Amino acid sequence: MGGRIGKAMQTTFTLAQLADPNVAESEKILRTCVHCGFCTATCPTYVLLGDELDSPRGRIYLIKDMLENDKPANEEVTLHIDRCLSCLACMTTCPSGVHYMHLVDHARVHIENTYRRPLLNRMLRAVLAAVLPDNRRFRAALTLARLAKPLAPLMALVGLKPVAAMLRLAPARLPAPAMAEARVFPAEGRRQGRVALMAGCVTPVVGPSINEAAIRVLTRHGIEVVLPEGQGCCGGIVHHMGREHDALAAVRRNVDAWIAEADGEGLDAILITASGCGTTVKDYGFMLRSDAAYAGKAKRISALAKDICEYLAGLNIRSTGVASGFVTAYHGACSLQHGQKITREPKELLSRAGFVVKDVPEGHLCCGSAGTYNILEDDIAKRLRARKVANIEKVEPDVIAAGNIGCITQIAAGTTIPVVHPVELVDWATGGPQPAALKGTVLTAAKARVAEAAV
Ligand code: SF4
Ligand code: SF4
Repeated sequence: MGGRIGKAMQTTFTLAQLADPNVAESEKILRTCVHCGFCTATCPTYVLLGDELDSPRGRIYLIKDMLENDKPANEEVTLHIDRCLSCLACMTTCPSGVHYMHLVDHARVHIENTYRRPLLNRMLRAVLAAVLPDNRRFRAALTLARLAKPLAPLMALVGLKPVAAMLRLAPARLPAPAMAEARVFPAEGRRQGRVALMAGCVTPVVGPSINEAAIRVLTRHGIEVVLPEGQGCCGGIVHHMGREHDALAAVRRNVDAWIAEADGEGLDAILITASGCGTTVKDYGFMLRSDAAYAGKAKRISALAKDICEYLAGLNIRSTGVASGFVTAYHGACSLQHGQKITREPKELLSRAGFVVKDVPEGHLCCGSAGTYNILEDDIAKRLRARKVANIEKVEPDVIAAGNIGCITQIAAGTTIPVVHPVELVDWATGGPQPAALKGTVLTAAKARVAEAAV
């Protein structure tokens, strides 16, 4: 079925159906698909499972049939849409510009509103939606999960695979809590800019060193950083679970917080260190397009949103040379490379900081993290991680750099090579502390190589 370019998809939505702006948008997207199947080649679930219904084109047909015929979601549609990672590799590959992201987001909302999942799945999703976006609850849950870690094999044995996956993913040790309160970090020297840093929900708990490094790099290069009062989770976690009401509440809260800051002291950008969140914030304008009170403000916020590496790429980074020669495998998070089309900037930034940057084979394929995917779809996620780690190890890096906390956690669970955020490396290379994950024997060879090169 692959590789045949046909005519654009025909649809038969009624005028009454098209009165719903979400249906109208999906219809527009469906009509751009020409059934060519190019997207199947780069879709991780199709590559692994080989089932057309687990390819973008197959999912598009399932969604079309469900929406066009006003059908409630059934088990089959739910299975194949749940298996989609929302990695958006299909959007990068599609020659016809099909906006699969908005289509699958709509399908997930339709599933959430019309399909009754099995009890255990429903409970698990409710727990994830209540815990992950909330720093305090998430920290408490991780503390419990660490204690219960040895029970992971037992949970898998009795069929509670997602619980087992959660326990396995829980870090062995939790970093000290990050600064949670709203604060301003003044620029060193003459102020050249002022930005808000989105703290996020998972990053401050699992990887607080990332935002701390971002603040140091920015202030060191003359940028004032503010953590605005009232900001929270971007809403992406619940958005990808189809819980639109919860997602839009989070979006409005952040819009209020950032607009207050932008209209107050002023902002040049809103910086995000987790690219999954960045993709969501850049879509706020679309998500609130039908909300008369918020549409304009949300559009403004999306225009201000930038990935941390995207922003740093525009600064004159001053490297100390300390990291010269360290081989870094750059893992392009899907949300960054496919969602935001940012591919060059992080690598160039690392090179300018002195690192030897290596591309990873099959870099377009997802690592299996994908928000809550590595908990809810553990089997596929583990296969994707094994493939990703094997590809990364081929380039024999000293360190792996990934611009998304989800990828960092997922990849780190499958390798002994340290995995850090690019901004932690840039911080180290420009006068900051060496990332804690790098303090170990793994770097001995790299240090020897650097010393050798210096002779
Ligand atoms: S988003 Fe990723 S997993 Fe989903 S259909 Fe597209 S390529 Fe496949
Ligand atoms: S989504 Fe794009 S690449 Fe995939 S079948 Fe449709 S037109 Fe072709």
